[in-house]
Amino acid sequence: MARVPTRKIMQALAETYPDAQCALHFTNPFELLIATMLSAQCTDKRVNIITERLFKKYRGPADFAAVSQAELEADIRDCGLFRAKAQNIRETARLLLEKHGGEVPADHAALTALPGVGRKTANVVLSNAFGVPAIAVDTHVFRVANRLGLAEGSTPEKVEQQLMRRLPKAQWSSAHHWLIHHGRAICAARGPKCEICPVLAYCLEGKRLNKGTNVHENR
Ligand code: SF4
Repeated sequence: MARVPTRKIMQALAETYPDAQCALHFTNPFELLIATMLSAQCTDKRVNIITERLFKKYRGPADFAAVSQAELEADIRDCGLFRAKAQNIRETARLLLEKHGGEVPADHAALTALPGVGRKTANVVLSNAFGVPAIAVDTHVFRVANRLGLAEGSTPEKVEQQLMRRLPKAQWSSAHHWLIHHGRAICAARGPKCEICPVLAYCLEGKRLNKGTNVHENR
């Protein structure tokens, strides 16, 4: 991996995004699990609109396990992939009742055994609902980590592993939020605003895009 000033990058991001936290609305681990499942190929803003009414109608796994496929599809059809999501949510609710007493397990293997729950969703739930250090690699984390040289991974799992090796465990969950916020606010997929970026001085991609900038001068 490239030699980059990780500590300085994290410090700058922490100062830029001091209030960075999960953008999904939830009041318990089950609501966060459902919201995160709904967020695939859908904005957090839209998910929050959907879950505001959804969680009034469905109070927990028993309600989701009892609803018909057609009714749940109709309730979540404003987000993408609603048929697959409805199927996965109903089956996940049934499995939570059958295997976990209706509770969301605070365990990575148990979470990823649920239908529609991958590494990213499991890490979001573990980190935000249970306070377990984890780095959920979404499209923003993947892009920003690679641009900054914090990771050189071709898959989200590789980037997660590299970030976990590079960052202190106590910083994993915060770093996840800082990188997401940075990806949304400044380091967009198209047209990153390098000219106002607080980590331009340390960024390999920023140097390439902004020829003449003396990166690493503050290392
Ligand atoms: Fe992204 Fe540009 Fe900042 Fe690098 S300098 S992190 S490419 S916005």
